[in-house]
Amino acid sequence: MPHDHDHDHDPLEQGIALRVRALEELMIAKGLVDPEALDAIVEYYERETGPRNGAAVVAKAWSDTHFRTWLLKDGTAAINSMGFSGFQGEHIHVVENTDEVHNVVVCTLCSCYPWPVLGLPPTWYKSAAYRSRVIREPRAVLTEFGLDVPAQTHVQVWDSTAEIRYFVLPRRPEGTHDLSCDELAALVTRNGMIGTAAV
Ligand code: FE
Repeated sequence: MPHDHDHDHDPLEQGIALRVRALEELMIAKGLVDPEALDAIVEYYERETGPRNGAAVVAKAWSDTHFRTWLLKDGTAAINSMGFSGFQGEHIHVVENTDEVHNVVVCTLCSCYPWPVLGLPPTWYKSAAYRSRVIREPRAVLTEFGLDVPAQTHVQVWDSTAEIRYFVLPRRPEGTHDLSCDELAALVTRNGMIGTAAV
């Protein structure tokens, strides 16, 4: 499971982290940013937005056919209606997993990601290995994540851009018809909404 660990030993990522820290220290020293404000912003993206928002969207789509139809037609508006909006979520396109197609999301250029519904991207999502390989050999990458997509199911890779962020609506697990929205949401994982896991 090479994607289970953080790529902290990746020299490129290490270099970026060092530069960010140096820049942050310099800006604080020069009085350009308030460290408390910076902490508040980071905390907001770590706690207030995050995969729990996306899970609530998925659970609602599984429970409410009208909402699901709206979500697939105009993801941004349907997601906004639940109070999830903002930076990096201005245009969210929702793609649905079915028997015929399994969707997986990447940003080959950098790390574009639908922040309002998923929070900040995991380290592996930003790694050069994931970004280059999932396009070339999506099935092999998914297998490494522990997901074997049946041969008859088409694997569709969606490359995010600065304009469009993709969000996967996973398949509803069997035997969950009696579950409430909250119980359904508890089943939904972050990777399930990126497409690197099933729910
Ligand atoms: Fe990007």
